[in-house]
Amino acid sequence: MPSTTATLPSGEAVPVLGQGTWMMGEDRGRAADEVAALRLGLDLGVTLIDTAEMYGNGGAEKVVGEAIAGRRDEVFLVSKVLPSNASRNGVVRACEASLKRMRTDRIDLYLLHWRGGVPLAETIAVFEELRHSGKIRHWGVSNFDADDMEEMERLPAGKNAQANQVLYNLGRRGIEFDLAPWCRDHGVPIMAYSPVEQGALADDAGLQAIAARHDATAAQLALAWIMARPGVIAIPKATRLEHVRQNAAARDIRLTPQDLAELDTLFPPPARKRPLEMI
Ligand code: NAP
Repeated sequence: MPSTTATLPSGEAVPVLGQGTWMMGEDRGRAADEVAALRLGLDLGVTLIDTAEMYGNGGAEKVVGEAIAGRRDEVFLVSKVLPSNASRNGVVRACEASLKRMRTDRIDLYLLHWRGGVPLAETIAVFEELRHSGKIRHWGVSNFDADDMEEMERLPAGKNAQANQVLYNLGRRGIEFDLAPWCRDHGVPIMAYSPVEQGALADDAGLQAIAARHDATAAQLALAWIMARPGVIAIPKATRLEHVRQNAAARDIRLTPQDLAELDTLFPPPARKRPLEMI
């Protein structure tokens, strides 16, 4: 039976299904619906929320702040700092601003959104300071390929990274060649972003046929496939309440060996190294 949690290197268990927030917070007219979607997800036990200072230029974090008001302790809150803010002073300022927008005193997992020009050692050092002061509980990275992970691991405190958030779904399996094995060997969970390829996998006829055997939708099957992989967390974004309900229900789908074999035929795993893809 697939696990409903993934274990961080710290030993803490986090849910294998979360809620993404990219494209939220861009239009105040849609904010109430977005808050309602996130709150419904929380009601259904989808308690990991992924956001970033970048989304909606801070707007998504404000939506998250509204959604978690009065129920902060239920939530495992993930946010990200932009590489342009990854210097010592930049991270401190960005973190304070994120906390303020989300109206909370701590971020559970704070990620470097992608690698930029600031030396990684400088960013990690300030992540560690923020962790010791309690503003963040854990830190990690995003869009890091296997060579980035190796480089980080050699830095002071580099081994304290708790996750790597990367593009991963049935149609984007490149990380299975080297990054996913690296993360598995080092006990670092992968957070799979765009797990339904921004909605496109929902329309895949091959997936729909397999999903029909489970009385499920193609998007649900795509999520079930990710969640069945040990140490991988899926963070679909859904604003429609029907999608939120379907995504939560995908946790109950049990893929058979036949399903998995057919999925490997439809969406073959990589035969050679491919550079990490990003959206
Ligand atoms: P996604 O989750 O693969 O797809 C979101 C789209 O799929 C939305 O249009 C949504 O529609 C639709 N959808 C959701 N559930 C569905 C379902 N059950 N059936 C049919 N359609 C469904 O794409 P994403 O937003 O790019 O990725 C997810 C999250 O990962 C982001 O929101 C963000 O938090 C994170 N992310 C991180 C990075 C990074 O660089 N670290 C990059 C990209 C994304 P509705 O909204 O209309 O319900």
